[in-house]
Amino acid sequence: MTIERTFSMIKPDATDRNLVGSITAMIESSGLRVIASKRIRMTQEKAAEFYGVHSERPFFQSLCDFMCSGPIIVQVLEGENAVKKNREIMGATNPEDADDGTIRKVHAVSLEKNSVHGSDSLENAVIEIAHFFNDQEIHP
Ligand code: ATP
Ligand code: MG
Repeated sequence: MTIERTFSMIKPDATDRNLVGSITAMIESSGLRVIASKRIRMTQEKAAEFYGVHSERPFFQSLCDFMCSGPIIVQVLEGENAVKKNREIMGATNPEDADDGTIRKVHAVSLEKNSVHGSDSLENAVIEIAHFFNDQEIHP
């Protein structure tokens, strides 16, 4: 059994539609535990840094604008194989390709407005958590 932590965001399309509770309930139903959570506004600077890996992609500026368009919820999730488990319950990046019952299948609006982010590796989870939380804000 490997207990891991991963980083999750509920994106502006979902906060706008009042889906914070519904999405968090889906996360908790999977067995993952929310051990840190806060509602923030992304800045252009932070969005560009966070999605820096995509800076050369044609959708980059639109993605940054979208992520700054409304409040987001940032969370730390803990549990068995948390990184992989969260990616599974999120579903595919494009909601049209997502499996039934996944967060993106149920709630996402489009490829861009896909409601949630989740770390794609343990290494990135550590980096992303440190971007948004200090140790005093995480309570297992
Ligand atoms: P995230 O990093 O947000 O968890 P992901 O890992 O499933 O999503 P990435 O390839 O990292 O997918 O893309 C980051 C985000 O950029 C996607 O979640 C989506 O919002 C947006 N995105 C990705 N590809 C496209 C595209 N072709 N057109 C528009 N937006 C896109
Ligand atoms: Mg990604």
